[in-house]
Amino acid sequence: MQELLEMGNIEEEGQTVYAVAPYLTQGIVTPEELRRLADVAEKYQAAAIKVTEARKIAIVGLKEEDIDAAWQELGMKPEVAIGLCIRNVKICPGMAYCKMGLQDAIAVGTKLDERYHERELLREVKMGVSGCPNSCSDSRTRDIGLIGGRNGWMVYIGGKGGKTPKLGERIAVNIKEDKLFELMDQMLLVYSEQSDGKEIFEEYLSRVGVEAFKRQIDITLFI
Ligand code: SF4
Repeated sequence: MQELLEMGNIEEEGQTVYAVAPYLTQGIVTPEELRRLADVAEKYQAAAIKVTEARKIAIVGLKEEDIDAAWQELGMKPEVAIGLCIRNVKICPGMAYCKMGLQDAIAVGTKLDERYHERELLREVKMGVSGCPNSCSDSRTRDIGLIGGRNGWMVYIGGKGGKTPKLGERIAVNIKEDKLFELMDQMLLVYSEQSDGKEIFEEYLSRVGVEAFKRQIDITLFI
């Protein structure tokens, strides 16, 4: 369902209906945008408004002839990051909205999203940013996960969900924001240049080993 939503059309009972899913930074939508989404859905008699697993809001069940007008009236950017790239970074409310938060997950997650959204890679890379070790954004089962600590960010790599879940390994603690983005850039650069083009991030790490990867990215520059 998710991929079909992103493609914009869905086969339903023998006929094709359409969905529009605007790009929402960090799943955040203003009250005014939410009202517009509802107005457009109602005006074009959409079947439903769906909150997707990727924290998007899709208007589903539109007719093909209404798609252009719906986008125009929404006045929002489409969700264009599909496939082999970094899609929405999953974040939690962090210290801005959660009393458990130790770091500002929304601020860091938003910066990561702006930095990497749509960046093309050989394979999709999933990221999670959690404001404290409770890890509500599943940071330890993402390719790259950040977890807020008292003195900075902990960085985990190589986690995955799915049928054979695996927890990522921690490679750095107490990383401050300025170094954090440099470290992220370096990890993605090495993965892009060194992987065989077919393996996902976790497979690449399993093949080379986390310790070797740390040497490849020269982790000592960041910790
Ligand atoms: S990870 Fe921590 S800061 Fe984020 S929502 Fe969960 S408890 Fe709150």
